[in-house]
Amino acid sequence: GKYTKEDILKKVKEDDVEFIRLQFTDIFGDLKNVAITASQIEKALDNKIMFDGSSIEGFARIEESDMYLYPDYDTYETFPWRPQQGKVARLICDVYKPDGTPFEGDPRYVLKRALAEAKEMGYKMNVGPECEFFLFQTDENGMPTTNTYERASYFDLGPLDFGENARRDMVLTLEQMGFEIEASHHEVAPAQHEIDFKYGEALKTADNIETFKLVVKTIAKRHGLCATFMPKPKYGVCGSGMHMNMSLQKDGKNIFADENDKLGLSQEAYWFIAGIMEHMKEMTAITNPLVNSYKRLVPGYEAPIYIAWSAKNRSPLIRIPSARGAGTRVELRCPDPTANPYLAMAVCLKAGLDGIKRQLPVPASVDTNIFNLTAEEKKERHIHSLPANLREATLAMSESDFMKEAVGNHIFERYTKAKMDEWNEYTRQVTDWEISNYLYKV
Ligand code: ADP
Ligand code: MG
Ligand code: MG
Ligand code: MG
Ligand code: MG
Repeated sequence: GKYTKEDILKKVKEDDVEFIRLQFTDIFGDLKNVAITASQIEKALDNKIMFDGSSIEGFARIEESDMYLYPDYDTYETFPWRPQQGKVARLICDVYKPDGTPFEGDPRYVLKRALAEAKEMGYKMNVGPECEFFLFQTDENGMPTTNTYERASYFDLGPLDFGENARRDMVLTLEQMGFEIEASHHEVAPAQHEIDFKYGEALKTADNIETFKLVVKTIAKRHGLCATFMPKPKYGVCGSGMHMNMSLQKDGKNIFADENDKLGLSQEAYWFIAGIMEHMKEMTAITNPLVNSYKRLVPGYEAPIYIAWSAKNRSPLIRIPSARGAGTRVELRCPDPTANPYLAMAVCLKAGLDGIKRQLPVPASVDTNIFNLTAEEKKERHIHSLPANLREATLAMSESDFMKEAVGNHIFERYTKAKMDEWNEYTRQVTDWEISNYLYKV
């Protein structure tokens, strides 16, 4: 690791830290934390801080509820938006059981397990996410709305872009926290934004996504705005995705590149793509976890619907961007920012590794616009669709031994049950759409 226990103790003193937040993530990707005062830091670093796991949704039953937080020293960081005297620092933690073994319900552990399997095959995984979000107005009580007066579009700038100042503040804050920001821009829909940070090792990137969302929401609030990562907050405009750019490294080299191949891709890259395509339907409940996620995955808004890949076309589920060498990567375009980043990366990696292990042949690429193909042409080319809604996605996951192994029994049982409950709750609602379409007509 980067830091020792002594380093952290020294930093806490030097940084004049008063509070330390011990963070972890639940199975749905929600960030949780326990705050301790600086006086308790040694106890925390010795893995002695306990919490009641039964109070966290989907975590543990009452009878097995004692959980311990094991801080990952390398994740030490202070929050630049908090007071500079009596600072607030955070440590991202692994969750352990009282017997000293990792808790199977900890998503960070699920990703670590997948990464260990990759490591045995000699691979390291790199991930670069492209996280989109909306900045909406708040009402007179400070509550979020879906209102915006903004009319700006892709790559527009101020004064059209009302979120420009907030976005700049987000970028600066992220940089203070060690992020390398590659680009930030206004997105296609009014009030929609994207901030891209440099790819890195998967576990660190998953931690970074959680931090990124916290920063974006916090800074938006300071500007009197509300940031939302909801996949489709508004009918009729683009939704927010989180494209996942992925590559594998061996002995420090990107092994997805091969100069001698006609597309510049290696055999491993093709197998990896084939593995993702093979398991995509089973994984979608993880990459697109909300009822609302499926309202983004519809024709006409740049979001993918069909399970296909291309190195020429920008719109398929799996795109191979033109960069080669160190930038060679597979871009998965369905995930949205509400996915649990640890679980999403774990299942993508497991699927890719499965493709490599089984040497799965990659289906032919589809370089034409799939939306222009007839149903028959799609059938001829074996082009399948992503699950149409959370119910289809959850059923596909429930029936998958691959997914049970990938996320482990504990999360598999709780996740599929929670998602089916969510679907059932939703589908029993009487919506505004039904009222406006039926009430007066029937
Ligand atoms: P797009 O063309 O899809 O809009 P962006 O430029 O917005 O792509 O984002 C590309 C992302 O891919 C960035 O986060 C970048 O760091 C990441 N990336 C670049 N090279 C690699 C790689 N070898 N492995 C994983 N991610 C990578
Ligand atoms: Mg982008
Ligand atoms: Mg770009
Ligand atoms: Mg984008
Ligand atoms: Mg992209």
